[in-house]
Amino acid sequence: MKPEQRLVDVQCSECGRVWQVDLAQVGRDAQLIYRGEESAKVRVECPVCHKYRIVEVPQRWLS
Ligand SMILES: [Zn+2]
Repeated sequence: MKPEQRLVDVQCSECGRVWQVDLAQVGRDAQLIYRGEESAKVRVECPVCHKYRIVEVPQRWLS
């Protein structure tokens, strides 16, 4: 069985690009920077201008 996808839309504050990050790939496409009881924060990189964005997601999405 394929792992469940956890796609979130992220918009870059620099260039306005919107792209999708699959939170099933945290550790590869996204870097975990904070993990709390309810929520977690991951850092993702804009594919266009390579600025970093912090995205807050439900902690349970990170299995
Ligand atoms: Zn950008």
